[in-house]
This record gives sequence, C-alpha cells and structure tokens, in this order.
Amino acid sequence: MDEETKQKYLEAGKIASEALAFARKNLKPGIPLFELAESVEQRIIEQGGGLAFPVNLSANNFAAHDTPFPGDTRVLGEHDLLKVDVGVQVDGYIADCAFSYSHDSSHGKLIAASKAGLDAAILAIAPGVASRTVGKAISDAITSFGFNPVVNLCGHSLDKYTVHAGEEVPNVPHGSYTFKEGDVFAVEPFATDGEGVVRDHSECQIFRIGEGKSRLAASRQLVKNAEKYHGLPFCRRWLSRDFPSIHYDLAISDLVRCGGLEDYYPLAEKSGKLVSQAENTLIVSAGGCIPSVKLPG
Ligand code: MN
Ligand code: MN
Repeated sequence: MDEETKQKYLEAGKIASEALAFARKNLKPGIPLFELAESVEQRIIEQGGGLAFPVNLSANNFAAHDTPFPGDTRVLGEHDLLKVDVGVQVDGYIADCAFSYSHDSSHGKLIAASKAGLDAAILAIAPGVASRTVGKAISDAITSFGFNPVVNLCGHSLDKYTVHAGEEVPNVPHGSYTFKEGDVFAVEPFATDGEGVVRDHSECQIFRIGEGKSRLAASRQLVKNAEKYHGLPFCRRWLSRDFPSIHYDLAISDLVRCGGLEDYYPLAEKSGKLVSQAENTLIVSAGGCIPSVKLPG
C-alpha cells in the first residue's frame, strides 16, 4: 500500500472516530433514532468525509443493516441495546466501525463480550496469520463471557469504494484466508445470548446498485441519481430527499426484481435474543495491524 492510500484510510478512520464519539455523547433514552442517524451523517460530511453507507442503528435482536426510514418515529428505550455502525470514505478509502450502547447496565457483559472479541482479533491479526486462527480468537473471547458468536456474520476485506471486497474474517474458527501486509479488513465480532444465527427481517432499507437494467422511467431516474453514491450502499431515507415515496417505492420494487438493486435486509437474531457488536478497520502491517478508528470508551 502506498503512503497516500494509507493516509486516506487513516483520515477516514479519524473522521469515523469523531462521528462515533459524537453519537456516543448524544445517546440517551428517548433520543429519536431518525435525528441521531441524520446528525451523525451530517457530522461526517462537515468534517470532509463521505458516507460509505447509511448510519446503521440496529436495536436489541437486530444485529445489523437497520437504519431509520422516512417518517420513522422510533426512540431509544431505557433497556434497548443499540448498535451504532458508521461508514466513512475519503476518496473511496473506507473506515467501517461500530460500538454498542445501552443505558441498562445489565447489558454491560454482552457489550463487553463483542469488544473482547474485537480486541482478541486485533492482537491476533498479522501478515501470515490465517483467518481461521483469528476466528478462533474471537470465538474463544466471546464464549469466555458465556455468550455465543454470531456464526453467519463476518468481518470483510475493504477496497476502494467497496465495503465487501471478497475476503472474510469469521467470528468462529472457519475460513482459509491468510493475511498479508497492506490488506485492509473491517473486523466485527457479534455476541449474543441466543443461538448465534441471523436472518433477514422486516422491510428492507438499504440497497446498492446491481448489474440488472430496467427501462422503467422511475427506475432509470433512481439509478442515474444514485451515481453520486459511487456504487456504495444508500437507503430509503436518503432517496426521500430526492423523490416522492410513491416514485422510489415503485423503482425499488422494479429494480430489486430485475437485479438492478441488491438489497441488504435488516438482520435479526433467529431466536429473538440480544446481539452486541464491536467493529474496527484494520490495516495489516509488518508484525501486526493498525486500527484506523478509536472506538468510544
Ligand atoms: Mn459496519
Ligand atoms: Mn463491516
């Protein structure tokens, strides 16, 4: 990796660190999730960052890929366990990071378990290390707290304007990748008091442009408008700034049907139990790895 690229990854990480700190400072029971998402995204843009994806705010049994929808009135409850997952890009170089929060201290142990999984992964990752070894370190850390890792969610390699660049870091001893210097990975252990399997749930909010083509005018307009996202994910909340809902609802259904959009459904724990997450972006370097993000304490 050349020095300029590395500096852009680190700059994205710096902006993301500030965005997470801002979110953490504002989190309290009663805060409207819509306002929280919009203010964190605004904060990223004010600092000169681009959005690598919509701020994900996933509560309780939802592990990932939930984000407020247009007109969303949900507020954070006193006992909710919220995952705040933020993506920043600088010239396409991404920082993907997350922390978990609850006002209810009885969720502290579950939150600590995913954080311990992430810390174990950061200690383990270095050039020449196998992804399976890292998965084992994550899994061992989480199970030592008496919880289960989520088996069907993985960390992932990052590339320019690409959030999921093809290689994975599982949260269990699995996989066959060997890390090398210059790799960039988002590592994201999820811990649960449930089975440890997530599945699609609720209405889809997050999409990305796919290969399929449509001739429908509304769909072509949506695709044209989405060029500004550089192939990165976007959400209904963002589309609602540019189109009336009747327009984008129609275009989304049409484009999903023809493969013009890929959909990222909210992912909920199968047994309905709680999930915590911790995530950082790591630059694999000689002898180890460099986290690009400082997570809130
Ligand atoms: Mn993430
Ligand atoms: Mn990620």
